[in-house]
Amino acid sequence: MTPPSRSPYVVVGAGIHGLSTAYHLAKELRTRGLGSGSDVIVLDKTAPGAGASGIACGVVRNNYFQPAMSELMQACVEVWESDPAAYHYNPVGYMALGAGVQESDLMAVHERHERIGYRSELILGEAAVDAHMKRLFPDWRAKGVTVLLHEHQGGFAFNMDSVLGLVGKCVSEGVTVHSGVEVHAFESAADGTVTAVDTSAGRIEVGEQLVVAPGPWAKHFWGMLGLPMRIDIRTPAGDVVKDRPMWTYWNLQEGEIKVDPTMFATADGGAPPVIHLDTDAPLYTDDGKLVTDELWGIYYKRDRNGVQGGASPLTVGDDVELDPYPQTTNVDPDFADMWCAALSHSMSRFEGCRALYENARSGGVGAFTADNFPVFDYLRPNVYAVLDSNHGYKMIGVGREVAKVLVGEHSALLYPFRFERFETGDLHPVSHSPYPWS
Ligand SMILES: Cc1cc2nc3c(=O)[nH]c(=O)nc-3n(C[C@H](O)[C@H](O)[C@H](O)COP(=O)(O)OP(=O)(O)OC[C@H]3O[C@@H](n4cnc5c(N)ncnc54)[C@H](O)[C@@H]3O)c2cc1C
Repeated sequence: MTPPSRSPYVVVGAGIHGLSTAYHLAKELRTRGLGSGSDVIVLDKTAPGAGASGIACGVVRNNYFQPAMSELMQACVEVWESDPAAYHYNPVGYMALGAGVQESDLMAVHERHERIGYRSELILGEAAVDAHMKRLFPDWRAKGVTVLLHEHQGGFAFNMDSVLGLVGKCVSEGVTVHSGVEVHAFESAADGTVTAVDTSAGRIEVGEQLVVAPGPWAKHFWGMLGLPMRIDIRTPAGDVVKDRPMWTYWNLQEGEIKVDPTMFATADGGAPPVIHLDTDAPLYTDDGKLVTDELWGIYYKRDRNGVQGGASPLTVGDDVELDPYPQTTNVDPDFADMWCAALSHSMSRFEGCRALYENARSGGVGAFTADNFPVFDYLRPNVYAVLDSNHGYKMIGVGREVAKVLVGEHSALLYPFRFERFETGDLHPVSHSPYPWS
């Protein structure tokens, strides 16, 4: 279908954020008597789920050390829980298992969970963690784990299914999602207001507001909006770190083993929580080769056709070819050995799983901001950007907040993610996690 030549609200990107924003905006317009979904269009150069949302491992958790991330994630989990069937959400919980260096972080996270009413349990000490894990998984055998944060909310969702669930919700509100429409440029008024978007399907006038939710293509849109590619960052201590790249790319390394998924079940045959294990215990392959004796980490979940997960991402640099997405740039050739060794280290049921490793459509590149946290903000008078720094499949609730902002409300949950923080020094605290997104 050809897009109209004018629309009050234009959303670019049919990933989790663009679709969630469009759906919630349509609801806001309808319930406030301001309009309806027919005032909203979504444009995607390929199709819904063609970006990071369609490749995400799908993990939904609230193990965030940063208060603002934790509070926002609670709102996101609320959205997942609001319609598990449409979102293909599996509320199996999430376990973060860590080594000594992570104890204080996870204790702080747990305290905050208690304060905000997010259901989780903290277990401290190697023996207690081991006993808790063995009750669920009798063959648990990971070493060097002294802390466990067991989230009884969270879990995972099936990536493409949840995207399509959101498309269905958009359509039910009267929003039209246009696939195969690429945005090439913006036309602006003197005050920076974007008046029209130039697309592969023609010019579309923006009546009210434009939302950009381009996922890994964030840097490209940043350039289209004329924003600086290098910035100075004021730290909370007041020093200024000069000339930092605003955007860098990381490659998310993920893979899967082809097994009967039910072999990964809890002792009573139930669906297992998502597991994230970090430890400094030496890691060996099943045939006794040392993989690493430094802190390492993996995550894994039961999938439809096996067990899927990943490990720490690799930096790719300031520039990367994204199309066709996902590019498999800079994958560590030893990733499969490491990930399978780590699965086997954690549970004996995975011994020998290296032979079952699949080269499936897993992994891909993500775009990260200068402090690795999202930018959710107006970047022009009528252009709201949802740039999640690769945190965001789980952040389905961001669109609900953005929709409120678009109709004129303040969002206390989004405010800590304004672009201005780099100038004012209101940065988010940094944890001891080896991952850029914790
Ligand atoms: C391998 C991998 C695993 C991940 N695992 C998880 C996870 O387990 N849990 C989690 O919470 N997060 C995860 N993430 C992060 C998460 O996937 C992203 O943060 C999130 O999906 C981004 O959503 P989005 O809607 O912003 O972007 P996307 O889903 O990338 O959507 C952007 C859309 O914009 C379109 N587009 C781009 N340029 C244009 C243009 N010029 N014109 C029109 N359309 C355009 C693209 O086609 C695309 O469909 C993972 C990321 C990767 C890469």
